[in-house]
Amino acid sequence: MTVARRYSGYRSYDYLEEGTDYRSFHLAADRDRVPGHELGLSDAQRQRVQRILDEEIVISLHDHPHIYPDDMSELIPYVKTGRTRTGYRGLSESGMTAVFDNLMDGYGCVTSSAGWKWDDLMVDLGLRLCDFAKQDYVRVAYSVDDITEAHREGQLAMVLSLEAATAIENEVDRIDMLYGFGIRQMGVVYSESNNLGSGLKEPGDGGLTTFGRRAIERMNKLGMAIDVSHSSDQTCLDVIEASTAPVLITHAGARGVWPSRRMKPDDVLLACARSGGVLGIEAAPHTTISPGHRAHSLESVMDHFVYCVDLMGIEHVGFGPDTLYGDHVGLHSAFDLGIRQDMVNWPEFTEVPYVSGLENPTENFFNIVGWLVQHDYSDDEIRAVIGGNVLRVLNQIW
Ligand SMILES: [Zn+2]
Repeated sequence: MTVARRYSGYRSYDYLEEGTDYRSFHLAADRDRVPGHELGLSDAQRQRVQRILDEEIVISLHDHPHIYPDDMSELIPYVKTGRTRTGYRGLSESGMTAVFDNLMDGYGCVTSSAGWKWDDLMVDLGLRLCDFAKQDYVRVAYSVDDITEAHREGQLAMVLSLEAATAIENEVDRIDMLYGFGIRQMGVVYSESNNLGSGLKEPGDGGLTTFGRRAIERMNKLGMAIDVSHSSDQTCLDVIEASTAPVLITHAGARGVWPSRRMKPDDVLLACARSGGVLGIEAAPHTTISPGHRAHSLESVMDHFVYCVDLMGIEHVGFGPDTLYGDHVGLHSAFDLGIRQDMVNWPEFTEVPYVSGLENPTENFFNIVGWLVQHDYSDDEIRAVIGGNVLRVLNQIW
């Protein structure tokens, strides 16, 4: 494991006094919280994995690279402070060059999955940006150059991202403000509908609204990446048609593999590819399961990868593991995100306490690249799916 050379040991809010300036929480371990995943690589394979991670630009299209409370009953009070701790140490050991960092939107995100509020978002964003400003390992990515420079400098580029545009309400100029504050990717809608369009949980599917079309036009003019991961099927198709730029699905899998609403049907995946976009394969607990691997793990996630590469072409697939430091299964129950309700047929599956192999941002790409090496993917193919495809599409969008 190589540590990024610019990381010097900084921990979130080190410039303040914990317990005096901000509330202290007992946090989850950011290292070895669960047993590592044993892939059974030979020494030569392990060296190849390490070489690839050292040399290549590695980009996660979707993660929550923060450390959460050890006891998830503390989750809501913790998130309400707005001071989410970035997992700097773990990230420095991850081999990643850039991460799409999805803000938690402060208090708003715990009141309702669709109720993200502008003021809460400003608190979350401001505190996060201040923390970044006090250290020099993480840099905020405003452009593709920031990512390539981070690669050269041994830094991590953080792409500030939002799961949904709910906080803009019906004011299109707020998209400019978010861009100004550094947001470079925004989801159209979370699972419950907003002013822009229908979310994937809705019983009816109204697609993209008239206001949603204006928002897409503004995002195109600004060069902000658009994500449809939590959008309804019709909203996905409408957004892809309306957008002049490629559209991303930053974290999802294939409904052709697992019949859940949280997964995308073939027509949406194909439309994304035709737009020039990229899909990031999702790995949050109990999402990318497969008939062959009903206990969620690296193996079931890679079943989605193989299917999507076959359907969309390898140049349109990447990874958005959607992981964090802490008990993600516990977080799903605490937030009541309705993962189960998101499922349509909900075939028999095995519940897991964590996703073996893709449990946290530190281990994800070691295991993904390890699996790809083990399955005889070429260096060119691996380079494309761990970062090259995302870099290409960001060059077009940004
Ligand atoms: Zn999400």
